[in-house]
Amino acid sequence: MTAFAEQPAEILERLAALRAADAPTHGGHVLSYVYDSGLAELDELAAAAIRMVQPVNGLDPTTFTSVAVMEREVIGFARDLLNGDADVVGSVTTGGTESCLLAVKTARDRWRGEGVPRLLAPVTAHAAFHKAAHYFGLILDLVPVAEDGTIAATALIERMGHDVALVVVSAPSYPYAALDPIAAVAAAAASRGIACHVDACIGGWVLPFWSDLDLWDFRIAGVTSVSADLHKFGYAPKGASVLLQRGRDRQRAQYFATTQWPGYPVVNSTMLGSKSAGALAASWAIVHALGRPGFAELAASCERSTKALVDIITDIEGLRVVGHPVGPLLAVATDESVPPARRVDPHHWADQARAHGWLLQLQPALAQTNGVALPHTTHLTVTPVTESVLASLGEALLAAAEEVRGVAPVSVADVLGALPPDLVVGLSSPDAPPLDSETAVAILVRLGLLSAQYSGGSASLPDRMAPFLALVAALPAPLTERLLTELLARIVEP
Ligand SMILES: *Cc1c(COP(=O)(O)O)cnc(C)c1O
Repeated sequence: MTAFAEQPAEILERLAALRAADAPTHGGHVLSYVYDSGLAELDELAAAAIRMVQPVNGLDPTTFTSVAVMEREVIGFARDLLNGDADVVGSVTTGGTESCLLAVKTARDRWRGEGVPRLLAPVTAHAAFHKAAHYFGLILDLVPVAEDGTIAATALIERMGHDVALVVVSAPSYPYAALDPIAAVAAAAASRGIACHVDACIGGWVLPFWSDLDLWDFRIAGVTSVSADLHKFGYAPKGASVLLQRGRDRQRAQYFATTQWPGYPVVNSTMLGSKSAGALAASWAIVHALGRPGFAELAASCERSTKALVDIITDIEGLRVVGHPVGPLLAVATDESVPPARRVDPHHWADQARAHGWLLQLQPALAQTNGVALPHTTHLTVTPVTESVLASLGEALLAAAEEVRGVAPVSVADVLGALPPDLVVGLSSPDAPPLDSETAVAILVRLGLLSAQYSGGSASLPDRMAPFLALVAALPAPLTERLLTELLARIVEP
C-alpha cells in the first residue's frame, strides 16, 4: 500500500484547528450564512447520507440510479409545498445562485424577441441575477424600490416590453425581507407573454408555513419558475437548491446537451458536469425525516423568534426595523426620528454586537437611479436555533446599542482621508486605467484590509467593518469590485 505523506490523524487535527477559527456554524450566534435547525440528529442523518453517496457521480443518473430517485422525490416534495400541479417539473441544483442562473438561461433561450433580451427586476433582486445577466448576455434593468424595500407592481409593469425575457420578483427579498407584489406582476407578465420567476431561495421552504401571506407560489398562473434553496430553510448542508419550472417544454430549455464530440453524450440539467450527490442525499434524507409537520414546526419557531426580535429592536431607541419583514429575516436602520445624540448607527451596532459574540451582517447604503437613497442597514437571518438563544441575543443587541448610541456614522471623508488624495482623484476619474494587481494590493494595505507585510499569508477581516462598508458605498462600484476581487484572490494565493 502507498504510504501516506502525512498521517490521517494529524491531518484531521490540523483541520479541527482550522475549523475552530471559523465563525461558529451552530448555536445561533451567526445571523446569516448558516441555517441551523437546532436538531443535532438531523445533522447526523445528513452526514450519514453524504457518506453513503461519497463516491457517486451525480453527472449520470442512469448509471447511478439512486441520484434519479432522490432527485425525483425531493422535487415531488417541493412541488407539493409550492402548490405546483402535474405540469410543474424541476431539478435539484447546487445552490440558489445556480437555480437563479438557470431560470435566466431558460428564459433567455425561450425568448423570441429581436436584439438583446432584458431582465427586469426590482433593485432588491438578489445579486445572482446581476451575475446571470453578466454570464448570459442580458441587459439588467433594475427598478428602484421605496425606502422600505417595497415596490409597486405598476413600477415593474410599466417597464415590460417585447425585449423583456424575464421579470424577477422575490419571496421575500434578501436585503429587506419584502414580499414583492407577485400576483399583479405575474399576471401582467403572462398577458404579455413574458416569463416570471419567483426567487424564493430564502423563503421557499419556510413561507409555506408562515401566517397571513398573499399568494406567492405556483397558485399564481403567471408564475413560470420558482427557486427555493434546500441549503437555507431546507436545513441541508451547502450545495442544494431546487428550481421548479412550469411546463415541460419550458424546462427542457434549461438543459444542455451535445453529442458532437468524440466522448460520451453530454446531457446536463444543471451547469456542472461531474458533481457530488452529497448535498442531494442529505436534502433527501432531511425531507423524509422532517416531512411537512417537521418543516411546519421549525417554521413556527422561526416566526415566533422573528416577531420577538422585531419587538426587541423596535423597543431599542435609535434603531428601527425596515418596512414589514415577511419571513425569518429583517434589516435594521437608524431611527432618524430621534435626535442625533439618541440615534444608533446600524453598522457601529453590528460591530459592537460582534464584540459581544454575535455576528450580524452589514449591508451598504445604495443610491438608486431615481434619487431615492437606500440607507445602510444591518441584516439578521433568524433560524430555528434562534429561539434557544433569544434572551441572551436580545440582551446583547440592547447592550451594543447603548454602547454606540450617539456615535455618528462613519464619515466617508474620513475613510477616503486614509488614502493619498491624488490616488482618490485618480481612481475615481472615469478614464482611470484598470487597476493592476500590485496597485490594488497596495491600496488594500493602505486601507488596513491586508497587513503591510502581506505576502500570500492569511488575511482576516478587520474588527470594525463599519469603515469598510462606508468605503464600499463611497467609492465607484467598479473600483470597489476590483479591490474586493483582489482581496479575495490574495487570500487563496499560495
Ligand atoms: C441566498 C439567496 C440567493 C442565492 O443563493 P446562494 O445559495 O447563496 O447561491 C438568491 N436569492 C435569494 C433571495 C437568496 O436569499
